[in-house]
Amino acid sequence: MSASRPPARLRLQLFPRAETAVKKGHPWVFGDSIKSRNREGEAGEMAVMYDRNDRFLALGFYDPDSPIRVRIVHCGKPATIDRAWWRERAVSAKSRRDEVFNEATNGARCINGESDGFPGLVADCYADTLVVKVYTAGWLRNWDEVESVLREVFEPKFLVLRMSRNLLEASEFEEGFRGEEGDEVVVFLENGIRFESAVRHGQKTGFFLDQRDNRALVEKLVKGRDVLNVFSFSGGFSLYAARGGAKSVTDLDISAHALESAVQNFKLNADDPRITAVPHEIVQADAFKWMDETERKFDLIVVDPPSLAKRARDQEGAISAYRHLNARAISMLRPGGILVAASCSAHVPAADFHSMIRELAERSGRRWKELWTSGHAPDHQATFPEAEYLKAVCLELN
Ligand code: SAH
Repeated sequence: MSASRPPARLRLQLFPRAETAVKKGHPWVFGDSIKSRNREGEAGEMAVMYDRNDRFLALGFYDPDSPIRVRIVHCGKPATIDRAWWRERAVSAKSRRDEVFNEATNGARCINGESDGFPGLVADCYADTLVVKVYTAGWLRNWDEVESVLREVFEPKFLVLRMSRNLLEASEFEEGFRGEEGDEVVVFLENGIRFESAVRHGQKTGFFLDQRDNRALVEKLVKGRDVLNVFSFSGGFSLYAARGGAKSVTDLDISAHALESAVQNFKLNADDPRITAVPHEIVQADAFKWMDETERKFDLIVVDPPSLAKRARDQEGAISAYRHLNARAISMLRPGGILVAASCSAHVPAADFHSMIRELAERSGRRWKELWTSGHAPDHQATFPEAEYLKAVCLELN
């Protein structure tokens, strides 16, 4: 009998700095932090890390093709990572969100990756559909088990699997509904407003759930104002603005598809007279160009661009783009106007972003005051700095 033996477990030793960071709870190990390994590692296998004294340090998903070479699954004492392990983590993630889901909100994030102990996996719930997006091959190795845990804990009727682009190219898995097929566009409730989410093909998992609380803040500021929603996507901020009593709302986005969805979202709320009472205009254009050229004025402008710094080296360019956009937005505000400036670029730290926006207000020569700053909604809880990608600041300018 000559059964081929499974390969030895992938063992890694890290440089001291990375070891310390992992011990403190940082969930990523970069390629240049690995001091030695016993063999080449494969995408998705569970690596064991040892400390400088050769004692167990951590377990994590290995990915030879990503700059984040290991995503830590567990650090501390040796442990068995099995179904019960993932189930416990899913149950805690669910209980952390008890306050988020209620009669008025049945769409929110259920699992936020590393910050919920599921490195490289997010799960967003839209009514009875759970959309799971995976960013690392580790999940696909034991996918059936992971899926069964998610089904048991979150009890969705439908489950959609989505993958980051690199995984789509490399894996045998296909995106789409697992098991029973549901609708590709799902209607859900956020703070009592109906929205659609293109769960199968839309950006991210179909909707930008992270702005929920910021939208609610905007709703309180809009009464009697002409509102411009720049980079509107499907009109998230605009629906809240309409319900809050805006005089008019204008959605500006480069994507016809996003704007169609904004129109559809207004239709979905046609039974709310506060929303139908407000004129809704859509403008399909490049926001940079349109804002540079327009002579129109508004009383509240939301500027929420896509991530302008996908990598650390884009940071400078991103800051200058934010500066340009928001300076222009300020100049389009009537006296007493409000700017809500957001950034979802993880490589632009909140403090830098806030001070840059304050500096623009100062330079405008107008009197101004800050109304609030904020991050993401609590279902997007972040346990390490890189996960704190979303920040917003709100200023009123005379
Ligand atoms: N504020 C939105 C999310 C914005 S996502 C919400 O609350 O849901 C970013 C949006 O910017 C996308 O809809 C994308 O189509 C749009 N976009 C990207 N580049 C653009 C450009 N140059 N001009 C206008 N819109 C752009």
